[in-house]
Amino acid sequence: MTTPRLLIIGPQGSGKGTQGVRIAAALGIPAISTGDIFRANIAAGTELGRRVQAITAAGDLVPDALTNEIVRDRLSQDDAAGGFLLDGYPRNLGQVGDLDTFLDGRGEPLTAVVELSVPRAESIQRLSLRAAEQGRADDNEESIAKRLAIYESETAPILDVYRAHGIVVTVDGVGTLDEVFERIVAALAERGIVVAV
Ligand code: AMP
Repeated sequence: MTTPRLLIIGPQGSGKGTQGVRIAAALGIPAISTGDIFRANIAAGTELGRRVQAITAAGDLVPDALTNEIVRDRLSQDDAAGGFLLDGYPRNLGQVGDLDTFLDGRGEPLTAVVELSVPRAESIQRLSLRAAEQGRADDNEESIAKRLAIYESETAPILDVYRAHGIVVTVDGVGTLDEVFERIVAALAERGIVVAV
């Protein structure tokens, strides 16, 4: 079986956070979400949290150097030795370069990139719903628009890089949680990654 070193990628509101956590739990690997790391630090009032609070609330990207360092540290922890699932990182081509250099240096490149495909209108609708339910600081109209624009201009091009490596699987993200989960499981199986369900 292929070691699951995964990236899940999709627009905000595609459900990638929820699906990522579920896939990672089924595979027994950590789900590493840079957004979650930043939110936890903001909630705990750490120095990192203070540095990124205004940036994340506005929907802008945290500087690459800082983000890259946080992910390298996290991937160096013992629980990521047998695989991991990244969510929300890498988010632009600079971060792709840094991540791939780091992983190639260990001889352990990503083995699959799951693209969750969801139409823009549906993403916006789901984000508005989440804003009402969870009250996330960055789920306001202005920030949502900015984050989706950044996704389209900076994050989507990442897929071309990984497509060239032949490791992208595209999954239809419209459907119930269970339906989408099953599609991801089937797509990973095609790449030799077996999720016990
Ligand atoms: P997310 O939960 O992935 O939507 O991330 C929430 C916010 O955290 C983003 O809008 C950014 O401000 C910041 N963030 C998360 N991941 C990254 C990343 N890879 N690079 C830069 N900023 C990030």
